[in-house]
Amino acid sequence: MFCNQCEQTAKGTGCTVSGVCGKNEDIQSLQESLVYSLKGIAAYAYHARELGYKDEQVDAFMHEALFKTLTNVDFSLNSHVGLVLKSGEMNLRAMEILDKANTETFGVPEPTVVKSGTVKGPGILVTGHDLGDLYELLKQTEGTGINIYTHGEMLPTLAYPKLKAFSHLKGNYGGAWQKQKTEFDEFGGPILATTNCVLIPKDSYRDRLYTTGITAIDDVKHLSDRKDFSEIIEHAKRIGDIPESQGKDLMTGFHQNVILELAPKIVEAVKAGKIKHFFVIGGCDGAKAGRNYFTELAKLVPDDCIILTVGCGKYRFNDLDFGEIDGIPRLLDMGQCNNAFSAIEVAKALAEAFECGVNDLPLSIALSWFEQKAVAILFSMLHLGIKNIRLGPTPPAFVTPNVFKILQDNYNLMLTGDPAEDMKAMLAGQ
Ligand code: SF4
Repeated sequence: MFCNQCEQTAKGTGCTVSGVCGKNEDIQSLQESLVYSLKGIAAYAYHARELGYKDEQVDAFMHEALFKTLTNVDFSLNSHVGLVLKSGEMNLRAMEILDKANTETFGVPEPTVVKSGTVKGPGILVTGHDLGDLYELLKQTEGTGINIYTHGEMLPTLAYPKLKAFSHLKGNYGGAWQKQKTEFDEFGGPILATTNCVLIPKDSYRDRLYTTGITAIDDVKHLSDRKDFSEIIEHAKRIGDIPESQGKDLMTGFHQNVILELAPKIVEAVKAGKIKHFFVIGGCDGAKAGRNYFTELAKLVPDDCIILTVGCGKYRFNDLDFGEIDGIPRLLDMGQCNNAFSAIEVAKALAEAFECGVNDLPLSIALSWFEQKAVAILFSMLHLGIKNIRLGPTPPAFVTPNVFKILQDNYNLMLTGDPAEDMKAMLAGQ
C-alpha cells in the first residue's frame, strides 16, 4: 500500500521523500518550525496592519513559505533550513514595521515608572498586545470615572506618550498570562482580551471577560467593533468600585531610541570597566516547572552588568531591585516580545561602537520560549548569525535531535542548564 499523501513509497516503510508519513522526521520538523515561525510573524504583521502599516516582502514570504509546505514540493533538508532562517529575516521586517506603526502612532516610549495594583473606583483590565484596542478603550472611557489597567504584555504600553497621556490609565495589574485565572478572578471588574495569551476562563469571571479583534472564546462576549466598547464600559459602571490593591512600582519604556541616546554613556562605562557584560533575558513566560531558571539567572547577574528584557518572561524578575550603574538602570525593560527588534538594534549599535561583531560583544542571551512569536524571534537571531543563545526551559518538541544538532553545530544553540553554571560560562563568553 502506498502512502496516500506522496504516493511514492510504501506507507510507514521509510519515506525519504515528503516526510508526511512521519519517516523523514527532520523535514517534517523543519516544516513545523517554519509554520510556528509564520504564526509568530503573522501576529506582528497583523498588529502593524491594524494600524495601517504593511510590508510587501513579508506578505510574499508568507505565501512562498506556506506553499513550500505542500506535499511533493520541496524534498531538500538544506532548502528547508534556508527557509526557516529566511522566516527569521522576515520576522525582523515584521517586528520593524510593527515598531514603526506603534511609535509613529503612539510616540516613542520613554522610561516610565509604572504603578502596580488598583485604586478606588470602577476599572477595566486590558490584556494581550494590541495598542490600538487599548487606545480606543482609553478614548471611550475618558471622563467616565472608569480607570484602565494593563495586564501581562500590555505593561510596556504605559510608556508610549500618546497612551500614558490619559490620566485614567492608572497602571499595571498582575503579571504574566499563566496567572490570569487567579488575577482575573481577583480583579473584580471587566477584562478586555485583545490577543493571546488568553486562557479559557473560570466560571467565576467568565461573565466579566470580553474578547475583541482576533481573540474569541465560546460563551464569552465578543466585541467585534473596537470603535464601540460601550458594552464593557456599561458593565464596569454596573460593577462600580473594584477591590483596591497595591504592588511594587515597575520600570519600563527602554525602547532602542532611549538606549541609543544612552549609548555614549554606556560605551564610556564599558571602557572604564564599570559595565562588564550585557545579558538579554526574556521571551515568553509559561506555567511549567523550570522557568524559575530565568529568575535565578537574573539574580546571579553580577552588579557590574546590565540586563535587557522583553516579553512577559520579564515578570520572573522585574519586581526585583537591580539598582543602577552611573545612572543607567541595570534592568532595561525594552517592551513587548516584538521589541526584541529593539534588543537586536541595540546589540548591533554596541557592536558598531566597539568595532566588533555582535558575537564578539560581552553579551549573552537566554531566551524563554513558549509560543510561536518566541520561535520566530529565535530564528531572527539565528538569521543574524548570533551564536551561543541559551533556550529553555525545555527543547521545543517539534525540533528533532538532528535539526537541533544542525542549530548547535552552526550557532552553538544551547539548552538552559544549571543557572550558576550557565552564568559562569556566559561571563566567560561561552
Ligand atoms: S510574550 Fe509570549 S507568552 Fe507572553 S503574552 Fe506575549 S505571546 Fe504570550
